[in-house]
Amino acid sequence: MARIIDGKAISAEVRAEIKKDVAALAEKGIKVRLAVVIVGDDPASQIYVRNKKKACDETGIDSEIIAMPAETTEEELISVLDGLNSRREINGILVQLPLPKHINEKNIIAHIDPKKDVDAFCDENVGRIMTGKFSFLPCTPAGIIELLHRSGISAEGKECVVIGRSNIVGKPMAILLLHENGTVTICHSKTKNLSEVTRRADILVSAVGKAGFVTADMVKPGAAVIDVGINRVDGKVVGDVDFDAVSAVAGFITPVPGGVGPMTVSMLMENTLEAAWKASR
Ligand code: NDP
Repeated sequence: MARIIDGKAISAEVRAEIKKDVAALAEKGIKVRLAVVIVGDDPASQIYVRNKKKACDETGIDSEIIAMPAETTEEELISVLDGLNSRREINGILVQLPLPKHINEKNIIAHIDPKKDVDAFCDENVGRIMTGKFSFLPCTPAGIIELLHRSGISAEGKECVVIGRSNIVGKPMAILLLHENGTVTICHSKTKNLSEVTRRADILVSAVGKAGFVTADMVKPGAAVIDVGINRVDGKVVGDVDFDAVSAVAGFITPVPGGVGPMTVSMLMENTLEAAWKASR
């Protein structure tokens, strides 16, 4: 039976450490502040923003939530970002995605000062992920690396398979595993014989967004299975992995909820702290 990697407990540990560091900066007169911009009233986005605000409260980071109506224009949003970029007391800026369809997300991300881009989504920060000269690590992949480290799982020399190649999860995840000296394969919807590839994995990360996608026959006995997926089925949140069946084969497994999700938010706090520290030097 697989050992459950408790993302909630590990996340609480990480947040306690961040809280200490935030307090230490406060003693030197340095405040840590995150601005979160949300456009429209997508219910899932509202939950994510609430979770971020809660994490700020837990770690002692000041938060400023800027809620804008769904009909906000791209120019209006850019003007808000320009304002946040120029305010010295704001260390991190996050625009909650997805944005309404009439707003070009790429343009918006490009308008965030890279020094305040705590999601690490802008081209400059994505480039730094490639070279290993990170300013900020991308939150979800960084959270997964932290879960592995704190569970005593090393990627060095291991077969690592990532299912999914999005810019925010799959690709940066693969790069971070490569920086950890894993032997990395990325799979996507055009991959042939997917199960053959995934069965090689000592560390299998699924970032697909389909409930029940990873079945027991796709998993190598003893593998660490990391489930990034967030899917809503009959009002319940589930991951990509058929949890019960895969637990019987895997060595380690992350649950959904309570696995990768809380760590993503904790890494956002870590990046905001890092931004404040860098801005103070
Ligand atoms: P995307 O939809 O951008 O990417 C999904 C990926 O899955 C694509 O690369 C796609 O391939 C691949 N895929 C789809 N079908 C198959 C298939 N049959 N076989 C192999 N690969 C397939 O999603 P995201 O990366 O943004 O997110 C993935 C999941 O993770 C979602 O459920 C999302 O909600 C969740 N998520 C969770 C976070 C957390 O903190 N826990 C944070 C961010 C996301 P192709 O490129 O060929 O289309």
